[in-house]
Amino acid sequence: MRLLKPDICVIGAGSAGLSVAAGAAQLGAETVLIEAGKMGGDCLNYGCVPSKALLAAAKAATGHRHAAGFGVEYAPPRIDLARVQAHIEDVIAAIAPHDSVERFEGLGVKVLKSWARFVDERTIEAGDARIRARRFVLATGSSAFVPPIPGLDQVPYLTNETVFARVAEIRDLIVLGGGPIGVELAQGFARLGAKVQLVEMARLLPRDDAEGVALVRQSLIRDGVALHEGSTASEVQRSGDRIRIAVRDTKGETQWLDGAHLLVAVGRRPRVDEMGLDKAGIAATPKGVQVDAGLRTSNRRVYAIGDCTGGPAFTHVAGHQAGLVIRSALFRLPARFDARALPWVTYSDPELAQVGLTEEAARRERSDVIVTRQPAAENDRARAERHDDGFMKVVSDRRGRVLGVTIAGTGAGELLAPWCLAMARNLRLSALAGPMLPYPTLSELGKRAAGQFYAAKLFSPAVRRLVRVLRWFG
Ligand SMILES: Cc1cc2nc3c(=O)[nH]c(=O)nc-3n(C[C@H](O)[C@H](O)[C@H](O)COP(=O)(O)OP(=O)(O)OC[C@H]3O[C@@H](n4cnc5c(N)ncnc54)[C@H](O)[C@@H]3O)c2cc1C
Repeated sequence: MRLLKPDICVIGAGSAGLSVAAGAAQLGAETVLIEAGKMGGDCLNYGCVPSKALLAAAKAATGHRHAAGFGVEYAPPRIDLARVQAHIEDVIAAIAPHDSVERFEGLGVKVLKSWARFVDERTIEAGDARIRARRFVLATGSSAFVPPIPGLDQVPYLTNETVFARVAEIRDLIVLGGGPIGVELAQGFARLGAKVQLVEMARLLPRDDAEGVALVRQSLIRDGVALHEGSTASEVQRSGDRIRIAVRDTKGETQWLDGAHLLVAVGRRPRVDEMGLDKAGIAATPKGVQVDAGLRTSNRRVYAIGDCTGGPAFTHVAGHQAGLVIRSALFRLPARFDARALPWVTYSDPELAQVGLTEEAARRERSDVIVTRQPAAENDRARAERHDDGFMKVVSDRRGRVLGVTIAGTGAGELLAPWCLAMARNLRLSALAGPMLPYPTLSELGKRAAGQFYAAKLFSPAVRRLVRVLRWFG
């Protein structure tokens, strides 16, 4: 068995691991990257990329509905699901070279395609190699959590790892789970012509702003998705080549739903098993590898980042944490993961974007919350484009510091960027109300929401008195 002694050894070549490996190698650190499955991990192969490619096709499939509002009529589309699937595969293939073994070897990373496990506190075994690195980074990600529902293990259910390879077959789908993954895929398949039923034990998108969720809910219903919120799946059965699932609502009444395919999307389970974490003294629970604020595990040589920590499961979180680990491991600078300004977007139509606290969460935490709200219906660009059913809501403290922002509607994810900056830099609303913005743009919604905070102060009796006095002095 060969022995490697790099500066840094990264386990997992998903969003988290690739970012650390690329950064470390480009900074001159000797880097080993170990991946047992596909380069690119979930995001490229089974997550963000295929789901957004599916949603793009789904949006194209409903373009005729929106066009009718402009007086432009074209026939309902003919959807070729095999070509939709080919489009998704094509998008993955176009991005794959960026995450490939060849590119990483070109950057100077030694890539090992093998399963990695710790054999002691400072040694990993992967294939025919033993790696004794100065620092290790665990970036082993997560997989779909499969709940212990009686009968589920007896039916051929789909997860995010299998569904994108079966797009061409899906015409009658039950989606279990109404989080971002369930919502996006339910809408995507419904718009592509499938009959879709969605079961969620709480309410849709439970972490999001209720008013924004209401818009997404309306849109799903318009797309023909049969929603079963507040409904718990209690049993699954196979019936010929179909699947039956019993769902109990809040009144305790049970009904059986029936579909050809079942997608399980009820949450994520960090990948922490069979890696010899106990041999390395790395504390982990089924919820994930335990880390401190600097992303170090209970073994000081080992960091853990991305989905495997059980924290917010997003590619941008993985990328951000990768930057912090490089700072800490290579430059020995202090690094601290702060989720205060965490953004996330559900890429439904309309999109639902959030950074920081929702109004509900802010009101739970503190008493000095001020909310300003701008409906898209008052934005000229949104009106012209007939996308006027969204809104922007800015939650701040009394001094105008941004605590959180919700945006619902077309382009919500793109409109979030200045608010992420505002929160990351602790800016006041005056910084967003001040700049001149081009007219007519959706961005003006943000400027007006920020301006609204000051309007009450600006048009107060005291200011009006001051203006009168100044006029008197000429
Ligand atoms: C359907 C879906 C849609 C999503 N959409 C979005 C989105 O729009 N935006 C967003 O920000 N996030 C999205 N996400 C979440 C995002 O995909 C994840 O947060 C991200 O991929 C996590 O990256 P990671 O590097 O932590 O883990 P992963 O991408 O899971 O990578 C971990 C890698 O480690 C490898 N591995 C595990 N154990 C070992 C071992 N012992 N030895 C060797 N290799 C190992 C695995 O094979 C895997 O390739 C989505 C997820 C899903 C499922």
